[in-house]
Amino acid sequence: MTVIPVMNEDCASPVADAFRRDVRQERGPRQMFCGLAGLIWLHRKMTDAFFLVVGSRTCAHFLQSAGGVMIFAEPRFATLLLEERDLAGLTDVDDGLDDAVARILKRRPDVRQIYLVGSCPSEVIKLDLSRAARRLTSTYHPRVTVRHYAASGLDTVFTRGEDACLAAIARDLPDAAPGARASLIVLGALPDIVEDQFRRLFDALGIGPVSFLPGKRQGSLPGVGRATRLLLAQPFLAETTRILEARGALRLPAPYPIGVEGTSLWLKAAADAWAVDAGRFDAVTAPGRERGIRALEGHAALLRQRRIFLFPDSELEIPLARFLSRELGMTVIEAGTPYLHRTLMDAELSLLPDGIPLTEGQDVDRQLDRCRAARPDLVLCGLGLANPLEAVGLTTKWSIELIFSPIHGYEQAGDLAQLFSRPMTRMTALDFGR
Ligand code: SF4
Repeated sequence: MTVIPVMNEDCASPVADAFRRDVRQERGPRQMFCGLAGLIWLHRKMTDAFFLVVGSRTCAHFLQSAGGVMIFAEPRFATLLLEERDLAGLTDVDDGLDDAVARILKRRPDVRQIYLVGSCPSEVIKLDLSRAARRLTSTYHPRVTVRHYAASGLDTVFTRGEDACLAAIARDLPDAAPGARASLIVLGALPDIVEDQFRRLFDALGIGPVSFLPGKRQGSLPGVGRATRLLLAQPFLAETTRILEARGALRLPAPYPIGVEGTSLWLKAAADAWAVDAGRFDAVTAPGRERGIRALEGHAALLRQRRIFLFPDSELEIPLARFLSRELGMTVIEAGTPYLHRTLMDAELSLLPDGIPLTEGQDVDRQLDRCRAARPDLVLCGLGLANPLEAVGLTTKWSIELIFSPIHGYEQAGDLAQLFSRPMTRMTALDFGR
């Protein structure tokens, strides 16, 4: 274990405070899903997209179980299986890809964008999916665009699958027209209901035009240029942010819209960029803020001073630790994050109460030892760790549930808190039943 003192002790700004935190670095065995998981929520959001994974039977089984595919459903994702002859270079995988894409488009004429998704096997044999995507786009343009991205287990954070997909879209965004007025892109896949709520708030604040990336359809791609402002709804979009910044867009630093406080500060970052006056901001946000605060009250009563341990899994852990400690009064024993992107996390770190131990990376056995020794009331962890921890009497919450559930914004603050209070209520009920 290496404890790294971070940055300059003399800096006094809130951002500089964030950089002064000690972060335990761990480099050891990890336990997490691969980036293929991302296409489960992306294909629900992008209603005219099809995801074709170029992978193995393991990938297909993983997607079938993670995606809950039923035999009578027709999901907009599939796996092109690489067989031994493909892996040995004895066949031309391009032929298989061409056939698969032709069959998809024949069966699903509503599809307008196809993603060739790289997996461990295709990465290992260095299959050039970018070339295939270019060739297929030229075949089917303008009706269909084909892009590619890698989402293999060689990257160790499952949410990076979304980042890789959005990065592929970001490269394809058109240039904004010269002299275009300021526009806002909200980055990160949000459920439609949350997107609609934010859109109404931005409208009422006079902020716009606003686009959400990913959008529902290929035709809704926004232009990007020097007048583009970026507001990140998810913290794991470093590569997409880098690409858009390189194209002239300016990121608005803010915490993430998780909980009432995070949502207010996130909206405020956009409001300041559009010079919205304080009175208007208060008037527009007050109803949602008050509903959110009321919705949290009952959960805070259950969770206050309860102790929680967050394993690194989705990169949402630091915003969650901030929300759980500041708005629900929980005691965070440890907050782990697979990566700590300091620039994208500086506003969160400024808000995080002092004394919360942070860990970047993972050494899963040592982390399990610390967790078992601490006996927290609740553990947020990946699916693979939940059963072993429950077996030693600890109560767990699956972190992937937070990616699949609507948790952003004022109206979802109570639902987010309930995801943490429900396991506690269940445990209390079981204790009474004994
Ligand atoms: S991409 Fe790799 S880690 Fe993910 S399911 Fe396929 S083989 Fe497993």
